[in-house]
Amino acid sequence: MKIIVDSSECCGSGECIKICPEKALSLVDGVAVLDESRCDFDGICIPACPNSAISFDEGDVGGCGF
Ligand code: SF4
Repeated sequence: MKIIVDSSECCGSGECIKICPEKALSLVDGVAVLDESRCDFDGICIPACPNSAISFDEGDVGGCGF
C-alpha cells in the first residue's frame, strides 16, 4: 500500500502540503509531488485534497480475487 498523487487531477491548491505532518508533499511546477521516503502512509492528505487527486494505491493488495 502506498499513496499516489494523480498529477492530472491535482489543482495545485497545496491543501495536502499544509496538512501533511511529515512534510512529504511539495509543489513542483504547480503539482503536488510525494516524497515516499518521508511519507508514513497515514492517509491524512487524502480527504484534504479538494480534487480527490490523492488516493491509496491498492494495486499492491492483490490476491483476493476482486
Ligand atoms: S499519507 Fe500522511 S505522511 Fe504521507 S503524504 Fe499523506 S499526509 Fe503526508
